Amino acid sequence: MTVWLLGDQLNADAAVLQGDDDHVLMVEAHGFADRLPYHPQKLTLVFSAMRHFRDDLRDRGYDVTYLQADSFGDALDDYFAARPGDDLVLMRPASHGGGDRLRAMVDERGGRLTVVDNDGFLTTPAEFDEWAGDRDVEDGFRQEHFYRHVRRNYDILMDGDDPEGGEWNYDDQNRETPPEGWTPPETPRFEPDELTAAVADWVDERFETWGANDEFVWPVTREEALTALEQFVEVRLTEFGPYQDAMVEGEWALSHSLLSSSLNLGLLRPMEVVDRAVAAYESGDAPLNSVEGFVRQVVGWREFMRHVYRRAMPEMREANQLNQTRELPPLYTSGETDMTCLSEAVGHVWEHGYAHHIERLMVLSNFALVYGADPQELNRWFHYGFVDAYHWVTTPNVVGMGTFATDVLSSKPYASSGNYVNKMSDYCMSCPYAVSKTAGENACPFNALYWDFLKENEETLRGTGRMGLMYSHVDKKDDEEWAAIRERASEVRTLAEDGSL
Ligand code: FAD
Repeated sequence: MTVWLLGDQLNADAAVLQGDDDHVLMVEAHGFADRLPYHPQKLTLVFSAMRHFRDDLRDRGYDVTYLQADSFGDALDDYFAARPGDDLVLMRPASHGGGDRLRAMVDERGGRLTVVDNDGFLTTPAEFDEWAGDRDVEDGFRQEHFYRHVRRNYDILMDGDDPEGGEWNYDDQNRETPPEGWTPPETPRFEPDELTAAVADWVDERFETWGANDEFVWPVTREEALTALEQFVEVRLTEFGPYQDAMVEGEWALSHSLLSSSLNLGLLRPMEVVDRAVAAYESGDAPLNSVEGFVRQVVGWREFMRHVYRRAMPEMREANQLNQTRELPPLYTSGETDMTCLSEAVGHVWEHGYAHHIERLMVLSNFALVYGADPQELNRWFHYGFVDAYHWVTTPNVVGMGTFATDVLSSKPYASSGNYVNKMSDYCMSCPYAVSKTAGENACPFNALYWDFLKENEETLRGTGRMGLMYSHVDKKDDEEWAAIRERASEVRTLAEDGSL
């Protein structure tokens, strides 16, 4: 029996590796990266992490067959020519249908593939499905309920049957903006070793990419990922909570953990990062609101997204309930716009393959949503631009949460005017657009687009329970206001299309 490990399953402690089998197959396929202009740091990260992991397994005594090919099919042709009829075991791929596709490919070549649970997640499909019971995606799953179930089941931040501190959720303490002059704690930086530097050069030469590749900071080994976890818990976790939703000009990371790329590659396990954060709370080194906020992201949101994706696919991939079809404006690739918020957020993605959650949701997705961009195109942009992006995680976040192309994740869109950005950031202070203006010259583009979006989608949105307050504001605007809003929204769309917003 051979253990086949995918590029996002770099976990030497995985149960599949604990048996007697010491033969491992890894396939480095390159063809996918010819189809989209992936961020060079993402390609460098994935290929370097895979090669480091191969070397690590060999040091541990495993016999690793490491194949480089255009596609999995080509690699499997070579593999089965050398080991006819081999039996493979694989952790269930996180992307929809991956297990069935790979099983069929192995069958065609005369081998056999057994699929087992994926240790990259804390909860199994069976566990989520049992929790969900008769409810299905159409009925809507509630993240908060699943999160509480996971907290209870795994005894995370519990005080007997009650949540630690008496509340399940301290989100109301996690919406502060830092005082003027605050500088975020340093971020960890992992100097590329020889292997990573060689991969980065090869990526630059071999692929058409989008993004900068000169300052690579991402952990590529388990050792580095554990150092990143320690650094986060010791230096940044305390401020993670209060400033979780804040945005500050010139700062790309604030106090976020930057652990998603390591978690999604398998270099870190969800439970160990949670245990480490909880230990900091228990030793009095981090406050409850920060620790609970972090725990909720990891065992609440990350697990929940994975299962909702699993249950909502394949429909979720094509979902577009608001029928939004505009092309993504060129500023998403050029970064060229006078809007400080978008210029900062796109700039962070270009520089690091990363933007933090609120920039992803309330700037990058929000703009695409109120502008009317095609959600699938936005999903592709997130998929190729971010170091932590995989289909299972971008799709629910972009198609579900970010653009409300389906209502399986929330009952209302995360749409907002410039007010939200102004409240949670200092971006509007240096922006030439006036956040206080909705229409007319130099009015903040978010404002007219937001109202226009509500009007355009009134039929779908007015009835959704939680939009009542928004539509009470819509109802107060007279014809003259609407004419000015419409004119400004159309002007903004033209400017954005022309790349001159
Ligand atoms: P922190 O803010 O420090 O959070 C801790 C961890 O919680 C993260 O590392 C991540 O593993 C997990 N987490 C938090 N929120 C989510 C979520 N909504 N879904 C899944 N995991 C979550 N996350 C990805 O891992 N890959 C993506 O491609 C991705 N695309 C996104 C696209 C959009 C439009 C939105 C709104 C969110 C997206 N997210 C994605 C979720 C979240 O924004 C990132 O996980 C987070 O910003 C990563 O940075 P961090 O590690 O510093 O996270």
